[in-house]
Amino acid sequence: MSPFYIEFRDPLFGVIIFFALVFIITISSYWWTKYKSKEKTKNLDKFLKDFKVAPTTKELKLLISKGEMSEKSWILLAKLYSKNGDYEKSIEIYNELIEVTDKSNVSEMMYLLGGTYFKAGFLERSKKVFLEILKNNPRLPRVLYDLVLVYEYMKEYNLALEVLEPLDELKNDISLDSLYLKILKILNESDLSNELKAYELLELYKVRGNLTYMIFEFLFRVNPKLAWDNLDGSKSELLTDIFWHIDKKDLDFDIISNNGYLRELYSARGDIQEVSRSSVFEFDVLINLDKKVQTTLSFEYICDNCKNISPFVFNRCGNCHAIDTSAIGITLVKDFHRDFSEENNSFQ
Ligand SMILES: [Zn+2]
Repeated sequence: MSPFYIEFRDPLFGVIIFFALVFIITISSYWWTKYKSKEKTKNLDKFLKDFKVAPTTKELKLLISKGEMSEKSWILLAKLYSKNGDYEKSIEIYNELIEVTDKSNVSEMMYLLGGTYFKAGFLERSKKVFLEILKNNPRLPRVLYDLVLVYEYMKEYNLALEVLEPLDELKNDISLDSLYLKILKILNESDLSNELKAYELLELYKVRGNLTYMIFEFLFRVNPKLAWDNLDGSKSELLTDIFWHIDKKDLDFDIISNNGYLRELYSARGDIQEVSRSSVFEFDVLINLDKKVQTTLSFEYICDNCKNISPFVFNRCGNCHAIDTSAIGITLVKDFHRDFSEENNSFQ
């Protein structure tokens, strides 16, 4: 017998077969993985090629009806279009999906469509879509909240307040939303004089003490005396930018000298010289500079809820739509106004 011949029953034969099988499985698994990954890349390339240029409405119809891509993927794509500002394409996708999707998903697709219409500024269409959803499911809080938002943007404050009623029945806390809408309603009342508006706003303020900025911004603008008389000193920080911009003739120095924060603020602005230090860094710098450098304050507004920063003041966050969440950020900046007025004076 040849020394290389291994008998069938030899235990070595079993070992060789075992390793041969392991080898074959490893090789085939490697090639299978490589093949699948190549296929995936091919599909992805095809997909990206299709969307390098946004598909036309006709192409979209065809692509969606073919059903080659899952609804989830289409929704992701629609959201991506919307995020990039291409609301038209996003709306087209949702409209097509509503045509082909299962009946149980229609309401969800319509909700997404309504939201995109809102973002795109098509308020009337957005309203219609939300009302249509609520026709079949009148107790959907997120749709009701979005409809409130649409009515608010349409300045239909009575309708917005009406939509809050079912939310209240569903045990949602609507007190802040209700107060906010009532304030907006008063501010936009064309038949009401500013004096009457101011008194009505104060009545609302006395009930809850919320939305201080929204109410006092108006009061200080139309009736500074009434504003000073009703000011809750503990909320002075919320109104920092308003105080900073009030005309010197409208200041109430009795109230200012009895309020630590306002004493520091107006010492920093240079109207009084009652303090030599401040716990607020920016005020402290200005007090110590004593007008030697052309510096003033600049403000930005941060949402306490989503941390979004805006250069403009807001009572409802434009990003997360939360109400009364704005906090003021202060920065020291070069005073261009002072530069300008000094240049003008130099020509005299
Ligand atoms: Zn926010």
